[in-house]
Amino acid sequence: MKCALTLTDVPAMALQSMPIQPITDDVRTTISEFYKQANVPVPAFGGQVDLRHLCPTLALKIGKNPKLIVFDLDFTLWPFDCDKDVISPYFRAVQGVVDSRYFPANPYPDVPSILATLYDNGIPVAYASRNPSSGSVKELLTTIPMMTSMGEKTLWDALPDRDYFHAYSTMGANRGKTMHFTALKRISGVEYSDMLFFDDLPQNIKYAEEQGTVAILLENRRGLTWNSFLQGLFHWRKVNDQQTRIPS
Ligand SMILES: [Mg+2]
Repeated sequence: MKCALTLTDVPAMALQSMPIQPITDDVRTTISEFYKQANVPVPAFGGQVDLRHLCPTLALKIGKNPKLIVFDLDFTLWPFDCDKDVISPYFRAVQGVVDSRYFPANPYPDVPSILATLYDNGIPVAYASRNPSSGSVKELLTTIPMMTSMGEKTLWDALPDRDYFHAYSTMGANRGKTMHFTALKRISGVEYSDMLFFDDLPQNIKYAEEQGTVAILLENRRGLTWNSFLQGLFHWRKVNDQQTRIPS
């Protein structure tokens, strides 16, 4: 049977679906087709499925992925300036992550599941922030939980190792996050064009694009969402395909 959906429908499905929704025979057949096309074993799913998780996982399985995904932190992973709007130490409380005054210090809602999905799919992640409070930022990353197939981890565990964490100011050498990216390229061996970058500040996006990285601006302080992540992933694939077609 021919698959009725196209790749671009996958993020649309993820967007339009409630987190948990009943799965009809049609949807079950379509999803199974995607798995078969990707040569991935079709998972057993019951009467309902979390499309918000399943579709993005599928999206990662059915195409080429960036070799490194780089995230800004403040107003990208969480809705505040770490160590300015919220103050260390951070704790897990009944209502979520809180700071020293019990102010909320939670990430944007989709962030833990996005990073857990990348972790589960073996896609390396780096953090690049111009926040100078490196210790406070690291503490928050090690406090925010994410649920992976290996059990509960923290956002810090998404990093291959601590060398992929770059939080420092670049005052006086203000060309976006050039210093951070230079270090990341040296450490990872990944070319800029094989990276995908998310940030909430236009100037950081501008300089990242100039160096050849696909960079996605997260506007209106809405932070990283599944929608923006998937749009970024598909945009990266489109740009990369175009690049490989250019004759040398
Ligand atoms: Mg930011």
